[in-house]
Amino acid sequence: MADLLPIHTDRWQFVEDLVRIHFKKAGLQEIRTPLIEATELFSRGIGEATDVVSKEMYSFVDRGDRSCTLRPEGTASVVRAVLQHGLLNQGPQRLWYGGPMFRYERPQAGRQRQFHQIGVEFFGLSSVRSDAELISIAWDFLQDLGLSGLKLELNSLGTFEDRKKYHSRIVSWLEDHYKMLDKDSQERLYKNPLRVLDTKNPTTQKLLEEAPMLKESLSMDSLQRFADLQFALKKLEIPFEINNKLVRGLDYYCHTAFEITSTNLGSQSTVCGGGRYDQLVEELGGPGTPSIGWAIGMERLMMLLDENIDIQNVPNAYFVNRGEDACIQALVIARKLRTLGLTVELDNSQAAFQKQFKRANRSKAKWVLILGENEILKGEVLVKCLTSTNKQFENLETSFDISDIDGLVKLLKSF
Ligand code: ATP
Ligand code: MG
Repeated sequence: MADLLPIHTDRWQFVEDLVRIHFKKAGLQEIRTPLIEATELFSRGIGEATDVVSKEMYSFVDRGDRSCTLRPEGTASVVRAVLQHGLLNQGPQRLWYGGPMFRYERPQAGRQRQFHQIGVEFFGLSSVRSDAELISIAWDFLQDLGLSGLKLELNSLGTFEDRKKYHSRIVSWLEDHYKMLDKDSQERLYKNPLRVLDTKNPTTQKLLEEAPMLKESLSMDSLQRFADLQFALKKLEIPFEINNKLVRGLDYYCHTAFEITSTNLGSQSTVCGGGRYDQLVEELGGPGTPSIGWAIGMERLMMLLDENIDIQNVPNAYFVNRGEDACIQALVIARKLRTLGLTVELDNSQAAFQKQFKRANRSKAKWVLILGENEILKGEVLVKCLTSTNKQFENLETSFDISDIDGLVKLLKSF
């Protein structure tokens, strides 16, 4: 579990601000659910046989003897909340959420025990266009962040009937090849056979090239739906690749499954994962509700964000001040400027002017305000332009009457 320090949070806020703009433009509404839920929600909602439920959950018994779990993902909680508060009675819901998730995994680059997701869930929307729209929200946001090397991988898992058909075919094939499977896949064979397709073991991967394919078990309707999705994505000019082996870790997916991966992430290459889960709402006690969602892993996103993009939050002004009267006056002026919408960093050190100026430069502020004993005597604040990027103001140095806050604001806001 990692701390996020100021050098990180500037970048996190930049990403969070941008994603909020994208969500707003797409008409999504935010939902916030508790970090702790009844364990049963996840064992039912995600599936006992999944890695998440069988070995990654942080579960504990509380003082009321209830089994509780720190949420390992967002979807089950969002479904619970949507049902509990009857939101489905108000028509289709387009929601987003964000926050920490907890999984007891082996920590490594891009894999933590507390990590953060932002996610989107659509409820009550069944058309293939909603799949395409939902994918486009993730895609456009990642593009807007300037990430390169992204790939959208797409598969169709078909209906539950399709999967049942495939299930028996793949299990019998895997049983015939049992001895050649890696140990992990041997275990998965009886718990969650579809996940064998997802193996990272190269020998098993090679072997699987001969295995029956999921797409061969899809009904005509499922195949048509998949073709329609590809058509819509082409219309949206979102490039994609079909990955027949993509099955996703959780039990509840049907039809569309997708991942956005990056070639720049090493082995934890998936930034965004999602899919359709038309039976989950019913499974959790609600009415049959077609649903689809995705989640982006924030830590992996941060690893991809260009190191060079400058997102340090720079103040409009750095306030250098020294002397008893000057420092209280500086506090008063800084507060007024902040009320009027400016970002002002106030030096509180009373250190020598030279030292304060060094800090002003380090803050990258556009302007420095100066208030010392001389200025107090004249009843003035001295203003200097610190950046040389704006020719018009280069080396500008001027002063304002202490009471002329409006004049000061006008100058500080001029660039
Ligand atoms: P993976 O195959 O990498 O374990 P997953 O299938 O378990 O991923 P999901 O449950 O679909 O992942 O979660 C969506 C996204 O959340 C992932 O694509 C990834 O970016 C991120 N994520 C999942 N688990 C972790 C983790 N332990 N640490 C950091 N990010 C994670
Ligand atoms: Mg995982």
